[in-house]
Amino acid sequence: MHQRPATDPHIVLISTGGTIAAHSTADGTVPRLTAADLIGTGSLNTGSLSTEPRIIGVDLMSVDSSAMSVADQFAIAAAVVDALTDPATIGVVVTHGTDTMEETSYLTDLFVADDRPVVFTGAQHPADSALSDGPANLAAALRLVTEPNSRGRGVLVAMAGEVRSARGIFKSSTTDLDAFDTVHGDLPRHTLDRPVPRGRPARVDALALYPGVSPGLIAAAVAQQSAGIVLAATGSGNAHPDITAEVIAAVRAGVVVVVTSRVPHGEVVPAYGGGGGAVDLERAGAIVSRWLRAPQARIAVSALLSTGASVHDVRAFFCDTTPTT
Ligand code: ASP
Repeated sequence: MHQRPATDPHIVLISTGGTIAAHSTADGTVPRLTAADLIGTGSLNTGSLSTEPRIIGVDLMSVDSSAMSVADQFAIAAAVVDALTDPATIGVVVTHGTDTMEETSYLTDLFVADDRPVVFTGAQHPADSALSDGPANLAAALRLVTEPNSRGRGVLVAMAGEVRSARGIFKSSTTDLDAFDTVHGDLPRHTLDRPVPRGRPARVDALALYPGVSPGLIAAAVAQQSAGIVLAATGSGNAHPDITAEVIAAVRAGVVVVVTSRVPHGEVVPAYGGGGGAVDLERAGAIVSRWLRAPQARIAVSALLSTGASVHDVRAFFCDTTPTT
């Protein structure tokens, strides 16, 4: 699709599917557009460069992001890292479904040490809808890549005119064009300084806690060889006392247990006891994720364990996610 030599300054656009690439069909909304199709719809209009850079499209996959495997998400992170090995790459745009963008964008953030911009974007309305928001989001993402202020910020997410760091974001609306919110907008960048693992990623499960939850769910995850378990606990990381015994058993079995909150905003500070409070869970060996909520904590634990991190490394990682402001 592009004839000029690869040494020209260029933006790499990695297409993975999602609503931004989707059409409505009788069987529901499904990804249809290629990277070349998307490039045809996004107009890059930048004042920050004297000539418009060409855009190299990469059709990495074409899936709804809710149907991605963790291996797919690692493959996207690897594709971004690969694109940045070319010094002529100005930056990278990834088009992705919004359902799991918070995980893949954050995973990519963990592996990209480069200062060149990497921007994820998506859409809430399919490409064949009269309301389609994809072209505007894509144009904004491409423009962002060319802006000097985008450098050194790690992975960014651009939706509906808003630009957020991938660190701490979560999907907050199933319908609003600005689909995301952030737990905290200023979480520190923490690059793992390891290559993206290409083999099977470590299995890490996430469990939501609620009154009446069966403590046996944790044992079931251990029995199914989970390397890590992330608990989306209530309030500031609290659970029923019966959960504590299961955490002790999981930790004894060598499973990394991380506890965070199902509440979207605020720091998760271990304060409560009573047998199942965060104070008890921490004593039982769980690591408290104070800022990253379950989806991002889970992908971080998977990245860490897939690259040979020990439980001490995982603990240090979560200690290091305190906001800078
Ligand atoms: N289900 C879609 C996806 O995540 C939703 C979207 O793209 O907004 O792929």
